[in-house]
Order: sequence, then structure tokens, then C-alpha cells
Amino acid sequence: MTGHSVSFVGAGPGDPRLITVLGRDLLEKADLVLYAGSLVSPAILDWCSKDCRLVDSASIDLETQINIMVAAAEAGQKVVRLHTGDPSLYGAIAEQITLLGRQGIAVSIVPGVSSFQAAAARLAIEYTIPGGTQTVICSRRKGRTPVPDEESLDRLAAHGSTLVLFLSSGQAQAVVDDLIAAGRSKTTPAACVYRATWPDERIIRTSLTDLPQAMEEASIENHALLIVGDCLQPSGGRSCLYDRSFSHGFRPGGTGDE
Ligand code: SAH
Repeated sequence: MTGHSVSFVGAGPGDPRLITVLGRDLLEKADLVLYAGSLVSPAILDWCSKDCRLVDSASIDLETQINIMVAAAEAGQKVVRLHTGDPSLYGAIAEQITLLGRQGIAVSIVPGVSSFQAAAARLAIEYTIPGGTQTVICSRRKGRTPVPDEESLDRLAAHGSTLVLFLSSGQAQAVVDDLIAAGRSKTTPAACVYRATWPDERIIRTSLTDLPQAMEEASIENHALLIVGDCLQPSGGRSCLYDRSFSHGFRPGGTGDE
């Protein structure tokens, strides 16, 4: 390694206050910020200094993006690669890390609030249900990007767990058809959160079977998450954590989880 580095920063879902303090510090000091213009909220870029060079990666191929970052890093500049939400989910960072590494550039990653976490907050729900599912599956429906057969929606639906689908709002009807064919009931609670925490955020809560039409009426076909499961309509089960007879590390009792 050359001693030069690039910081990959999770921008959070949209609201500029939802970036981490560390991420904001890096933006404030950055000389170059490469960001995905289609998804990163422009308001986040207000954290950058007025001298910072802002480059929208949307229309630039991968090799050119790498060259831009390498040239700046080698010139001793502070470089930030800004990703929407958290970089670990559908961030396509692995290929960038590999190519930067080949040129002797190290990478450090600052996590961000993912859109799936922001969506839960806006819906005021918990994806895991006391007495119910303890699992949340984040996935996508196959489209131009392939998804392994073992992860097709019908197989994921078999778990009955909470399902959060990224990158699939343009094919809501196909999602619903898959899930119903896999045995999920038509009345399963479903939601769509469009641009969680952006000024034009929209939230739809409905049933699985009514989701596509509700989205069509709201003209939502991208930049949204689909959420399916009983977590959207909890039946009032109580968690063990605060139950009097349940013990954990901070309270005495029998044996317990954390
Ligand atoms: N790394 C990001 C996901 C990038 S993939 C994250 O952690 O959130 C892009 C997809 O994420 C979009 O198609 C949409 O499904 C979802 N997404 C990103 N930001 C969103 C937001 N603010 N509200 C709803 N969905 C969002």
C-alpha cells in the first residue's frame, strides 16, 4: 500500500442529520466526494466544504471512478466515496475495494443508517416480533440482476419471517404473485416506504394483495422498500426482555438471553 486511502461513507437514508458524526466529519474535511447522484440526497452534500470537488458517479463507469479517486488520493487529497444508506447492502463496494487495492490505495468504511432501518422507524414498527418471528430477511426480487435460485422469493417466503425487499418496487405485482404462490395469505400486512426521511417521503400500509395498486395510485416505482409481514400489525405479544420473570445481564432472575 502507498499510504494513501479512500473513505467509504454511508450517507444514511436521506435526512442529512442521519449521517454518523464520523461520516459528517469526513465530508467536512474532504477535498473530493464521489457520490451516487440518483440515490444520495443532495442535502447531505451541504456538509461538504465550499472548496470540495463533488463528482456524481451516476454516469461514470467503474474504471473511470477508480481513476478519479486514485489520482486525488495520490495527490494527497482527502477522498470520500459516499454511498446511500449503509454501504454493506447493495453498495457494490467490493469491486471498488479490489480495484483500489490493486493500485495501492487502502479503504476505510464508515457505516450508515440503512434505508431498511429508516423505514422501520417511519412505520414505527419492530421487524422482530415478541412471541413471533425473530428473523428479518433483506433481499430483492430478481430482475436484470440475477438472484440465486435458493433465494427466490417463494423460498424466502416459506420462512414466514419479516421480508424487506430492496430494488424491487418496479415489480411489485410480480413480488406479490410470487409470495401468494408461495403460500403467504392475501391479507398479510404489507407496506411500501418511498424515500424514507426525504422531504417527499410517502408511506403506504395495506395488505399484500392490494399493494401493487396502492403503489400505482401513488406513482411509486423506484427508490422504495417493500415490507411484508405480521410485524406491520403486531398482535400485542410482549417481549421477554422486560418481563418480570425473565432475567438478563442487568437484572437478577433465572437463566436468560442478553
Ligand atoms: N445501501 C442502501 C441500499 C442501496 S440499493 C441502504 O442501505 O439503504 C438502493 C435501493 O435501496 C433502492 O432501490 C430502494 O429499494 C432502497 N432505498 C434506498 N434509500 C431509500 C430510502 N430513503 N427510502 C426507501 N428505500 C430506499
